[in-house]
This record gives sequence, structure tokens and C-alpha cells, in this order.
Amino acid sequence: MIELRSDTFTRPTTAMLDAMVRAPLGDDVYGEDPTVNRLEQLAAERLGKEAACLMPSGTMANLAALMAHAPRGAKVIVGVESDIYLYEAAGASVCGGIAYEPVPNEPDGTLSVAAIEAAFPEDMDDPQFALPAVICLENTQNRCGGVVLEQAYQQQVRDLARHRGVTVHLDGARIFNAAVASGRSVADVARYADSVQFCLSKGLSAPIGSVLVGGGEFVAAARRIRKMIGGGMRQAGVVAAAGIVALEDSVDRLSEDHAHARLLAEGLATLPGVTVDLPQTNIVLFRVAGRDPGELVSAAASAGVAVAGFGHGRIRAVTYRGIDESLIFQAVDRLREALVRPCASTA
Ligand SMILES: *Cc1c(COP(=O)(O)O)cnc(C)c1O
Repeated sequence: MIELRSDTFTRPTTAMLDAMVRAPLGDDVYGEDPTVNRLEQLAAERLGKEAACLMPSGTMANLAALMAHAPRGAKVIVGVESDIYLYEAAGASVCGGIAYEPVPNEPDGTLSVAAIEAAFPEDMDDPQFALPAVICLENTQNRCGGVVLEQAYQQQVRDLARHRGVTVHLDGARIFNAAVASGRSVADVARYADSVQFCLSKGLSAPIGSVLVGGGEFVAAARRIRKMIGGGMRQAGVVAAAGIVALEDSVDRLSEDHAHARLLAEGLATLPGVTVDLPQTNIVLFRVAGRDPGELVSAAASAGVAVAGFGHGRIRAVTYRGIDESLIFQAVDRLREALVRPCASTA
């Protein structure tokens, strides 16, 4: 099976596994795991923020961030196509007493400034209204096809947030893909956000973990919330060791994943009935005219390619370390077969 459902299928590299075995360890709830401390320092430096906190997952990093930014009864402005809104089990509402204010995502991944403005009540002093506390952006935006947010747009949202007295949280699960694709430093991409979470466990190919970065007080608050929701880990240096290798060795090579995604999209575009957007990063979204996506996913699996239905009639394929050029060509051949021979499993 050629596995293209997600870049979470990356496996730790040999260098990561070696680092995990050798990592100096301590109890991280006491703040005494030297490897975790080194990862947090490295992450804060790379992202250009004051402090960082290792989290077990991106979901927990986003949850702790929203709870640290927003008091109970506040609103968080989120994209209707965002991971935070769709895929995180309403954690901010359940755990934080926070209301989600979903705003449409434009095809380029942005939330229009007008739509964000409309989420603020006309009269902020009127006690009837819940007040927004944080605006959440996602970069790259997964459900819009791994698109990279423009710097000017992020600056505009930051300015709006400052004007309104709220913060900006960036779900940067794939912020390193955004940085590599746009030829910017990751600190530059993170510049306009008060806080950022990024995943070590996706294209960076560490087995576990995310890092939440931001100001010192914010990170201290998020660290307390992490403990409260059960994310305080003890000898977490075994996880952090792989994360350090990921930050040091896995960033530049993301351009290979982007090239492979383009190759895949170009191959898919030659197949009958397929429409596909040219990918900016490692996520390829496509449609097949006249075919039910669920049925096509099954047919593709029968032909030996795992892809995923992705809503709005679309199918997602994601490239990552380990999916090389020859696997891309094979995947296109197998998908051609799946298109010609619907539902091979029942034929
Ligand atoms: C994967 C992902 C997350 C959540 O990360 P987990 O580690 O899977 O909890 C958050 N946001 C985006 C955009 C993601 O792709």
C-alpha cells in the first residue's frame, strides 16, 4: 500500500531513534528534563518567540493556547474549515467554556477581514454579547489544500487584533512547510502571531509531539493548563530528543515533499475526469467527475493507494519523507487503474 492519507504516517528516522535512546532525561513536570528544555529553547529561538512548551499533540497545544488566551464565556474566531473548529472535538468549549465563532475560509485559506470584523459585537459594552478574545489562523491551511497565508494578510489580521484588543493564535501545524514554500524563515512566518503551535509529528517526521510558543507569561499559563488537562509528561526527553533532530535535520528537506506533491498533481491531471489544484506545499486535493469520493477511496485502496475523502467531493493525498519519486509514479499508475476499474474489490 502506498500511504498518502496523511503526513502523520512519517516514521522516526534512525537519527531520531538514536537520539531518543541517548537523551539525558529528568522529570519535565519539575522542569528538569534537560532534553525537553533544550527543545523548548530551540523552538522558541526558531520561531522568534520568548518561550515554548512541549505538548503531546497539536490538539492539546491549540486547546492550551485558547484556554490561556480566552477566559470562560469568551469567543474564539476560527475558520469554518480550520482544524481547531472541525477536528478537535470542541475542546475549547468543553474544557474552556469558550464559544467558537466560525467564519468562512476563503479559497486562499484566509478569513476575510470583513468577516472577522463582523464577529465583533457592535457595542462591546453591551452585556448581552460574548466578546471575542482571540483570532485563530492556520498556516498552511490544510482544508484549503495546504495553502500558505500571505505575510501582508497576517499583518492585517494582527493590526485588526491589536486595534480590537485581542490576540492572534496561529495553528502552524505545518508552519515549516509554509516557511520552506515561501522561502522565508519560520520566525518571519510566525511574526504576526502572539502564539503558534507547530507539529513535530507531521512532515518533520518525529513520532510524537507539538510545541506551543509565545510570550513568557502566556507559555507559563499554557504550561499550567497542560498539566490540568493531563499533558504533563515525566521523562518526556525521549520525545523531545526526536523533536530536536526534526528541527535540525527535517526542515530543509520539506521542499522535496512539495516537489513530490507537484509531481503527483501533474500526474493526476493527466487522468480522465480528474481536476486538481497545483499544490503550494505537500497537500494535493483532487476531484473526479462522476465518481463518489467514498467509492473512489475504496477503489484506490484496492489498487494499492491509500487516500482520504476530504469533504466537498474532494480527495486528499499528502506527501512526506519516505514517499519518493518512484512511489509517486506508482501511485499515479494505481490511481489510473482505480479510475478505469471502479471498485476492483467487488469486480
Ligand atoms: C494535525 C493538525 C493539528 C492537530 O495535531 P495532532 O497532533 O494531530 O493533535 C492541528 N492543526 C492542524 C492544521 C493539523 O493539521
